[in-house]
Amino acid sequence: MIFKFSKAELIAKKVLDECGLDDPTEFPLNEIILSRKAFYEEVPLDGKEGEIVSYHGKSIIHVNSGIPFESKKRFAAAHELGHYEMHRALQPIFSDTEEDMMNWYKAGPHEMEANEFASEFLMPSEVFHKECERKKFGPDIIEHLSKRFQVSKTAAILKFVKRGNHPVMIVYCKDNKMKWWKSSDDFRYFLEFERDAPPPSGSVAFELFTSNKIYTGDESKQQIWKSDWFRMKNDDEQDTPFFEYCLFVKSFNYSISVIWEK
Ligand SMILES: [Zn+2]
Repeated sequence: MIFKFSKAELIAKKVLDECGLDDPTEFPLNEIILSRKAFYEEVPLDGKEGEIVSYHGKSIIHVNSGIPFESKKRFAAAHELGHYEMHRALQPIFSDTEEDMMNWYKAGPHEMEANEFASEFLMPSEVFHKECERKKFGPDIIEHLSKRFQVSKTAAILKFVKRGNHPVMIVYCKDNKMKWWKSSDDFRYFLEFERDAPPPSGSVAFELFTSNKIYTGDESKQQIWKSDWFRMKNDDEQDTPFFEYCLFVKSFNYSISVIWEK
């Protein structure tokens, strides 16, 4: 498999290489940061996931000690490390909310780069792709990947769209509005909705926001229809079964629907 890497991903690879790591789960992240000559500390931060302050050639990364999940702390730390490696000469302070880490396409080029860095640093593409091989796609794969790489399911899903082994589309909804979507390069169908519209009525995301229905365990993969989400060629086109796995993150009232063809 040959991947095309962005600049931020290449820098993440270089840093891993300089640390002598093929797999970042082999070594504690705070020690990796220290070996890059930055300081790392977990402190209470109000309304922020992480921040980095650079002053007189010294940088300190703070991650919110109140974040309840290690996987999220890890992503925040790697995101700040990305700012350190790529942006510390351009801007002395970065202060990041959950919103900055989720709205990849809205928060500006530095935030997108820091997220791309974190994703590649924590889940190197080749290792990630190998981990998916010979496995049939479903919610259990996302669960496996998130455990394997010590990242949140959200982070694993975002990586899967880019580096997974099965064509999928993901749709991010917040407060019952579709905010952005992204599909694998080999996904062949197109949404026909506008930004900020509510998710379509046949979708699992719709059910979630309108009747609080959350599917878990064996039920998290739900059968839906192509026409629920996608443009049909014409009235005569026969509808076909698709699947939707809708991950809900209650604390921020957002969902990510992963949609794929049966
Ligand atoms: Zn940031």
